[in-house]
Amino acid sequence: MFSVLLELPEFEVVNQEILSTHYLVYVEKKMDEERCPHCGFHTRIVHDSRTRKIRDLSVLNKPLFLLVYVKRYRCQNCEEVFSSSFESVASHQHYTNRFRQFI
Ligand SMILES: [Zn+2]
Repeated sequence: MFSVLLELPEFEVVNQEILSTHYLVYVEKKMDEERCPHCGFHTRIVHDSRTRKIRDLSVLNKPLFLLVYVKRYRCQNCEEVFSSSFESVASHQHYTNRFRQFI
């Protein structure tokens, strides 16, 4: 089976699809604990989740998209809700940091 080597150590690949025009790689963050950006408290309480579609580098001339499973956490200390942060994707960006460096 064809497998994309992501070299993004923060993510675990949970599924992938090879389509005629592009690749889809479903990933989620390995760490299941986040630090609250408001007060610094560490939490594992998941509030909800969604999926972000992120453009990554092309593989064999086909665009590769990451479908990132993003958990939102509720801080047990200050009650704020916040999304997990990623080393390889800035918040509110639709592409990886390495894709931005490449273009
Ligand atoms: Zn907090």
